[in-house]
Amino acid sequence: MIYLDHNATTPIDDRVLEAMLPFLKTFYGNPSSLYRLGRASKSAVDAAREQLAALIGVQPGQIIFTSGGTEANNLALATLAPQAGLAVSAIEHPSVIEPALRLQSLGHELHLLNVDANGLITQDAVDEVIRLKPGLVSIMLANNETGAIQNIADYAGQLRAQDIIVHTDAVQALGKIPVDFNRLGAHLMSLSSHKIYGPKGCGALVFEKSVAINPVLLGGGQEQGFRAGTENVAAIVGFGKAAELAKAELADRQEHLLKLRTLLEHGLKAIPGLTVFAQQAERLSNTVQVGVRGIDGEMLLMQLDQKGIAVSSGSACASGLREPSPVLAAMGVEPDRAKSAIRISLGKANTEAEIIEFIKQLTSLTIKG
Ligand code: PLP
Repeated sequence: MIYLDHNATTPIDDRVLEAMLPFLKTFYGNPSSLYRLGRASKSAVDAAREQLAALIGVQPGQIIFTSGGTEANNLALATLAPQAGLAVSAIEHPSVIEPALRLQSLGHELHLLNVDANGLITQDAVDEVIRLKPGLVSIMLANNETGAIQNIADYAGQLRAQDIIVHTDAVQALGKIPVDFNRLGAHLMSLSSHKIYGPKGCGALVFEKSVAINPVLLGGGQEQGFRAGTENVAAIVGFGKAAELAKAELADRQEHLLKLRTLLEHGLKAIPGLTVFAQQAERLSNTVQVGVRGIDGEMLLMQLDQKGIAVSSGSACASGLREPSPVLAAMGVEPDRAKSAIRISLGKANTEAEIIEFIKQLTSLTIKG
């Protein structure tokens, strides 16, 4: 099998699994328990918090562990002050868009920031938001479909000067580009473990201490009272280990992925009618989203699956209805073109031979198709 869908999820790193195993079996104590077994779990969670903090340049106390990126995004938007409006970019992940729509239904004013043809937020869109003065703005650091990277540091600086809270969903950026919380200048940042070779069901919200967190889950006093519920100790340990590895290996991974992506894009050029979406934007070195004229993306995905190749399509399958990707729609891509999209997202274990095989299969399927 050739796995080219790392933006959906990554395989767990062996070293991460090894770090986790003792906390699934031997050290099963509750981190809130005061006896030795409990304290062992608590120090493992503390160590993981330090590993993650080191990757993103924050104090460990600025990290709230959650059940994943989705929960972190929900928790971030829940900081919105009563009566305040909010603005989110039109290309956000559903775990930002849906809570934003919920807030709108509760009476908060919602504004969508538009993007240009390359999926980038424009200065005009930021100027417009500044005029509207919402309480919170959410702009993702890197897009899950196109890989386009936003200039968060610039926008956060402008929005901060207007006392607007800035949230960035850095789920796809973490482990692929340097992510330094203070340099980005956001007040809030969402992360997820399973996109960086850690386990699923674990993530974090990073926060600046000036922001009043409004817990979504109430109950025990875990995570400074900001996220109740017994900690998923093994998963948190895995996330910490994955963060440590990402920090140590970031430069090598980036170099490897860029080499593979260059090879991939070179091969793709030979396919008639193929477009790379967001081509002019600075993009994650692992992500290429393409459309081939006259080809159905979902059909192509299934044909590739039969050849043992896993990619993702650019359509959202909700209640059996196939809708073209809202991200591509926001970029002004025609629905037919958007339905032809497939996303190839590379990972650290992919090889040149796999890319060559993928290009061969894609070429034969699209020319036949
Ligand atoms: N944000 C982005 C940009 C994502 O790509 C994803 C996952 O696909 C999420 C948030 C959700 O993260 P999780 O799967 O950990 O809930």
